[in-house]
Parts: sequence; C-alpha cells; structure tokens
Amino acid sequence: MPAPAYVRTTFQRGAYPAPARPTDWRTHAACAGLPDEAVFARRPEPALPALRACAVCSVRRRCLETVAPAESLFDGVSGGRLWRNGREVRIPADLAPERGLAVDYPDQP
Ligand code: SF4
Repeated sequence: MPAPAYVRTTFQRGAYPAPARPTDWRTHAACAGLPDEAVFARRPEPALPALRACAVCSVRRRCLETVAPAESLFDGVSGGRLWRNGREVRIPADLAPERGLAVDYPDQP
C-alpha cells in the first residue's frame, strides 16, 4: 500500500530529504544521503544504516511527529524505529548491538 500524500511529501523516494527552505527540519536529518533501501526498508537488516543514523539524529522527535507512522501506515525508518504498515518492527539484539537502537533483547533468565 503506498504511503499517504503527506508522508510522501516528507519522505520522498529518490529525493530524501527534500528541504524547501534552509530552516526545514529535514536539513538536519542524519539519514540524508542514505539509499531508499535503508530509509524505506521493511525488514531489520536493510534498515540498520538508517537506524544507526537515527541514533545520532537531532530531529528524531520532529521526524516521528511529522511521519506519524501508526496513523499513516508508514513503511520504513522514522524516529529511531523501523515501521511496517504503521506497526513497530522489533530489531533483534544480535543485529543491532549499538546503544540507542530499539532492539528486541532476549528474555532474562
Ligand atoms: S529520525 Fe531517523 S529517519 Fe528521521 S530524520 Fe532522523 S535519521 Fe532520518
């Protein structure tokens, strides 16, 4: 299912980020320049470069508020998390040992 228009204008494939003005929050996106395959990934492994960028991104909150993944049924990375059909995809701990990533830690004994 394609993303709604307001999501596409925020996260445009092939042109992300596409700032309209120098003050646009997207100019601060740490994922700028990453391939679409990372930013719009549906599975954890291809999303890791974007998730690593999120860990140091200064506009995480703004990104999450603008994309509103649950409401927009977003597929991809936003606000430090991976989303598929608007639901958060847990990242297995063995794929993302870095701090700051939303990972699915194994159960404690
Ligand atoms: S929070 Fe992540 S997806 Fe959003 S702009 Fe920052 S690096 Fe990109």
